[in-house]
Parts: sequence; structure tokens; C-alpha cells
Amino acid sequence: MSAELIDGKQIAADVRERVAAAVSVFEAKTAETPGLAVVLVGEDPASQVYVRNKGLATVKAGMRSIEKRLPANASEEEVVSLVRALNADNAVDGILVQLPLPSHIDANRVINEIDPSKDVDGLTEASAGRLLLGKQGLVPCTPQGSVILAKTVRKDLGGLNAVVIGRSILVGKPLSLLLLAENCTVTMAHSRTSNLADVCRQADILCAAVGCPKMIKGDWVKPGAIVIDVGINRIEEDGKSRLVGDVDFDAAVERAGAITPVPGGVGPMTIACLLRNTVIAAARRRGLADPEL
Ligand code: NAD
Repeated sequence: MSAELIDGKQIAADVRERVAAAVSVFEAKTAETPGLAVVLVGEDPASQVYVRNKGLATVKAGMRSIEKRLPANASEEEVVSLVRALNADNAVDGILVQLPLPSHIDANRVINEIDPSKDVDGLTEASAGRLLLGKQGLVPCTPQGSVILAKTVRKDLGGLNAVVIGRSILVGKPLSLLLLAENCTVTMAHSRTSNLADVCRQADILCAAVGCPKMIKGDWVKPGAIVIDVGINRIEEDGKSRLVGDVDFDAAVERAGAITPVPGGVGPMTIACLLRNTVIAAARRRGLADPEL
């Protein structure tokens, strides 16, 4: 039997709609509009596209988009000064530094200059620590989106065996912690895991965040499992270039209970969760309750 498709595009649109409604409520309460600042250093073409898309999505959700550009030869001190100025600007609720930064700049230092209350990417050490400690904070967008998708299939993930393949700071580790916070029994698998196929077969929720096209085979999927494929890989097939995930979708769809496609699964959730974090940050910075999202 074929699995239910988890429609990330539609679910992301629903999240953005709820964010827009929360922005209206926020404006009615405060007479202010949440603002998201994006810092772009240099002219990397892919980064320019991402920044433009984030700006458009921000405005569409009813928030203010603030774009700050610095040339590729900007010094680390200049970037740090800009982040500090945005920290001090009360009209800015969220700050995102578009990565990668040019190689002469210490990205870690710049990211950790962001005021944690405005860290809508959830990448500062303070945000990571809060997530680990189970304290309220801002959570990285792609893992947050992955959990929202899984919860559209099953509202309560408590007690399920979750296997997360990949232990990156951006995806695998925070995703594991979020699933733990949902009361899953979490296994973190990675490049040194033995018998990965057998580990995966235990998973009621199988999350792949590796960056290796179609690595997860159909028979690694437990029948009925929820499969969340975070991977985005460009491959050449039959003379055409296309995007595929880390999961061999055509085989996995025959065994899974529900599965995210690539594209159109986790991908669209990342910007939606960035907007979500921004309206949450705006509310918390003014001492308001978290918005209904
Ligand atoms: P990364 O390279 O930082 O981490 C990959 C992880 O996979 C590592 O922890 C490594 O241990 C593990 N790994 C590598 N080879 C393995 C193997 N053979 N078996 C088991 N584990 C193995 O990558 P990342 O930043 O975490 O991204 C992972 C994937 O997710 C990429 O395809 C990336 O494009 C995608 N991604 C998607 C989004 C989105 O918006 N949907 C966002 C971020 C990343």
C-alpha cells in the first residue's frame, strides 16, 4: 500500500497563514509591526536568492523586512558592529545572518553576537543550550519544521521510536532534541553507526538528514513508519538534473505510513518556521504570551 504524502507546501502555507493572523493580533495589541533583519555579506548568487525569498515571505506575512548588505571584503568587525546595531534596534525582532560568510570572517563569532531573544535561526550557543536544557528559546527552523510535519500525521509522538540519521548542528542534533522533547525514544545515527539498516528498521519515525541521494533504502523502513526526509540533493538522471532526498522515495513510499516528498516536503517549512520564530520573538520581547500558532 502506498504511504500518505505529507504535503510540506500546503502545511507551510498553513503555518504562514497562522503567522499572518498572529501578526495582526500583535499589531492590535502593540501598534507595532514585527521586523526581521537579514544580513547578507558578499554577492553569493544562491544566498541572494534565499535572502530575496525570505524578504518577500516576511512582507507577505505582514511583517517588516530589513535587508542589510555588506560587501564581500567587509571586515569581521564591520559585520559584528552591524549585528550589535541590530541588537540595539528595538524595531528589529529577529536577526538572521545569511550563511556562508566569506572565509575571512569567523561565522561562529558573528552568530554568537546575535541577541538570543532575536535569534530566529536558533543558531547561537545560547539558543542551543536552552534547547538542550529544555528551556524556552528559539528553535532552529528546519528541525522545527520537520517535527511540525511529523505531528500532522500523529499529534502525539510520545513513546514512538525515532531514529535521526545525521548529527549536524544545523539539523540532526536539534531535531533529536526536539523529538526527545516530544517524548520519543530517540536514536541518533551517523556515519559511524553500525548496522544502520537495522537501526532504521526500528524507527516509528525515521528522519534522514545526511546529504546522500537515495541512501535510505525501501527495506530499511519499518512498515507504517513516518518518514521525514530532510535531505536535498541534486542528481543527474536520464540526462536531466533533479532534486532527490536522502530516502529512496519510490521504494520507501510502498512501506511507510506517511512520507515527505523532495521537493515539497521539509524544504518549504524552513522559511515558514523562520516567520513563526519572528512573531514569537516579537511577542516574547514585549512580555506578551506566545501567539497561537
Ligand atoms: P551535514 O553534512 O552537516 O551533516 C550530515 C550528517 O550526516 C553528519 O552528521 C554525518 O555524520 C551524517 N552522515 C554522513 N554520511 C553518513 C552515512 N553514510 N551514514 C549515516 N550518516 C551519515 O549536513 P546538514 O547540514 O545536516 O544537511 C543534511 C541534508 O539536509 C543535506 O542534504 C542538506 O541539503 C539538507 N538540508 C535541508 C534543509 C531544508 O530546508 N530542507 C535545511 C538544511 C539542510
